[in-house]
Amino acid sequence: MAYDDQNIFARILRGELPAIKVYEDEQVLAFMDIMPQADGHTLVIPKTPAVTLLDLPADAAAYTIQIVQKVAKAMEKALDAKGIVLMQLNGAAAGQTVPHIHFHLVPGSLHELGRHAVQMGDQEKIQALAEKIKAAL
Ligand code: AMP
Repeated sequence: MAYDDQNIFARILRGELPAIKVYEDEQVLAFMDIMPQADGHTLVIPKTPAVTLLDLPADAAAYTIQIVQKVAKAMEKALDAKGIVLMQLNGAAAGQTVPHIHFHLVPGSLHELGRHAVQMGDQEKIQALAEKIKAAL
């Protein structure tokens, strides 16, 4: 699928838009979702430009999932999460709203998630949760 380099996450990666970051290295960025479906909702994205998992080179996918696991472990420890939902939407038909591949990590239960990408979260609360996750990484 053609990649639009003006999408929100591409702009975050270039530093043109702000993000509450929890982890960054040369290949991957993890940051807080601004419309969290539960407290601590975090996104993990490869820096490789790709719209969906189907477009992402396998080596980038393999590395990104290692960071997904690392952030999930920090989330479990920092937020005392009893469960963590890992969600990844491919294509608008699946409900994907930002066309840059990303993994959602949402502490809690699938049955208690808030609505997807609807309600802006409290920035101070999100920042405080990010600090906790960062400290556990
Ligand atoms: P998806 O619908 O799977 O593409 O998920 C996109 C996610 O990005 C949603 O959960 C949105 O709440 C989130 N989101 C949209 N804009 C931003 C932003 N500027 N910073 C952080 N998260 C965002």
